[in-house]
Amino acid sequence: MTWKCRLLSPTPRARRMLSRSGRPFGNAAFCSRPSGYHLASTLLDEIDLALDEGGEIADADSVEQWIRAVDSWPTICGCGYLFVESDEKTLRTERIFAAPGVGLTTIANAPVGAMWWDEPSVEKERPHLWVKLPGGLDFDLDGRSSGGGGWKRRGNPPDVTVTPSIAVPGYHGWVTGGYVSADLEGRSYS
Ligand SMILES: [Zn+2]
Repeated sequence: MTWKCRLLSPTPRARRMLSRSGRPFGNAAFCSRPSGYHLASTLLDEIDLALDEGGEIADADSVEQWIRAVDSWPTICGCGYLFVESDEKTLRTERIFAAPGVGLTTIANAPVGAMWWDEPSVEKERPHLWVKLPGGLDFDLDGRSSGGGGWKRRGNPPDVTVTPSIAVPGYHGWVTGGYVSADLEGRSYS
């Protein structure tokens, strides 16, 4: 099984999501998600995107929105964990992207193989290209590896080839000729 890479284009719209997250500690169970922590989101609404001077998504939340939203916070993680009072509640604004074969999506919900350029920031001299990996992790193709080096990327996104292989929790494989490879360790993904 391979996954075709598709380049997401930003749109001027955003989805506002009510998110709950919980880090397991003590005897609490770890989540089956690759990150190990619990997370669930529900859609609040869609809005025109507002960016601040730095190009970051400006927070347009208001007290009324929070109050109106209070009843629709997620109560359960996809793994079955029930959120407790101390678990975090956040209102997240997620930009909507579009791609042929994908339609409209946010990065959180993008399919495996989706690629996108990140927002500019003061730390980076140029945007980085990211890819959604099997297992659901987002991977920075222009980032540094644990050894301090990085990955070599050639080709025009989304038809890129990256070396060496990519190993993250839950996935080890290649991005070659615009496709994400099957897992080298034989894991399968639903
Ligand atoms: Zn969970």
